[in-house]
Amino acid sequence: MSNISFELSIPLDKDSFIELECEYCRNRFMISGEEFQNGDFMHLFCPICGLPNQLNTFYTTEVIEKSREIARQWAYDYLQKSLDASMKAINRGRFGKMKMQVPKANPNKELFEPSNSYVMVTVNCCDLKLKVREVDNQIGVYCPKCGGCHI
Ligand SMILES: [Zn+2]
Ligand SMILES: [Zn+2]
Repeated sequence: MSNISFELSIPLDKDSFIELECEYCRNRFMISGEEFQNGDFMHLFCPICGLPNQLNTFYTTEVIEKSREIARQWAYDYLQKSLDASMKAINRGRFGKMKMQVPKANPNKELFEPSNSYVMVTVNCCDLKLKVREVDNQIGVYCPKCGGCHI
């Protein structure tokens, strides 16, 4: 049971952007989901505070919670299946019928919609599009790829 990986689809908006959250400043922004998955960078600079961090620290709280929930659901299903199997074995014996049910975890697997309204910004240095809140755009953003400042 140790090598199970869960498939979690992270929600993208209509432009296929993924919402991310900076671990340091807790601000949110969006970049292209494809860029996030296939981009040739190990670190991402937060466009708002400019601090670099590893890619996997940028998942939003909702996504992390959802991945836990899916893992929990998987464990329930697994448990139910092995219970069913042993119940069948018992029912085949002379001990009368038994039935056991594992309570279902929340089956709602929908992910959240992006929580803010964003404006699209293009940073010229790396020719990268990102979305930030209007207020962050007015203050100026950092390029997620190279950390360059854009005001
Ligand atoms: Zn930040
Ligand atoms: Zn750049």
